Amino acid sequence: MILTDSPDELRAFLEQARRVGRSVGLHPTMGSLHGGHRTIIRRAAAETDVVVVSIFVNPLQFGPGEDFDAYPRDLERDRAQAEEAGADVVFAPSTAAMFPEEPQVTVRVNRLADVLEGAHRPGHFDGVATIVTKLLALAGPCHAYFGEKDYQQLVVVRHLVDDLSLPAVVVGCPTVREPDGLALSSRNAYLSATERSAATVLYHSLLAGKRAVEERGVSDVAEVRAAMTVVAQREELFDLDYAEVVDPGTLSVPPKVGAEVRLLIAGRTGKARLIDNLAANRQED
Ligand code: AMP
Repeated sequence: MILTDSPDELRAFLEQARRVGRSVGLHPTMGSLHGGHRTIIRRAAAETDVVVVSIFVNPLQFGPGEDFDAYPRDLERDRAQAEEAGADVVFAPSTAAMFPEEPQVTVRVNRLADVLEGAHRPGHFDGVATIVTKLLALAGPCHAYFGEKDYQQLVVVRHLVDDLSLPAVVVGCPTVREPDGLALSSRNAYLSATERSAATVLYHSLLAGKRAVEERGVSDVAEVRAAMTVVAQREELFDLDYAEVVDPGTLSVPPKVGAEVRLLIAGRTGKARLIDNLAANRQED
């Protein structure tokens, strides 16, 4: 396996791989790899010839006062985990290698960045879109693997690739969870034992919304939102930012619960800001 911090080396290696007919799979991460990342890397290894895992804690997607400095970093552990899961290349550039000077050109996400996470983290999706564009430019034509865990990010990246005609096929991968439902996340490392057990409230809240839609056939969006909120607010250690019901493609709140909706939740437990989401499918009457 190759470990490189050089954008030029990455580009040259992947150009050569494609020249001899090998397909490329890219999994962009911020490191601190866990079972969610490993599942995606294994899938990429099954579907493409050369798998690149990028590790870059992207300063552009963190706001002032967020956890950029505290974000867990352990390159040697990540390298071993990526290799074990089937990566061929780990690309771990420094900020200086990616941005030798302050970038004068960045990507701007429009309406999709105004809602949900975007409303709570101004500039976040512009930062994500800018770095994903850069990674895709370095990787060249590839399959790009993203997790549904960051659902809004996945929707933004799909639009980014379509709207800017980037040469990538975006592959969305299901969320990997702990046995008690908590979605795996690098930020779970911030949780104390009591906060860790309180954090299952995100999944329970989503399940309450899903049951309202799928078992009780609730079509009123406010009622589904209330079913989620009531569960979320029962947990004293959880501070809810939002529990929302949206159209899975546009991320707009629909006038009525349609055949397919996405339920999303975000909030704080201790020092960690956590997000999660789930699909819900309503039987049409
Ligand atoms: P991160 O390193 O947290 O920025 O995540 C990198 C990629 O891994 C993103 O596409 C995430 O959506 C995905 N990911 C993170 N956690 C999970 C999970 N529990 N299940 C599936 N994908 C995940």
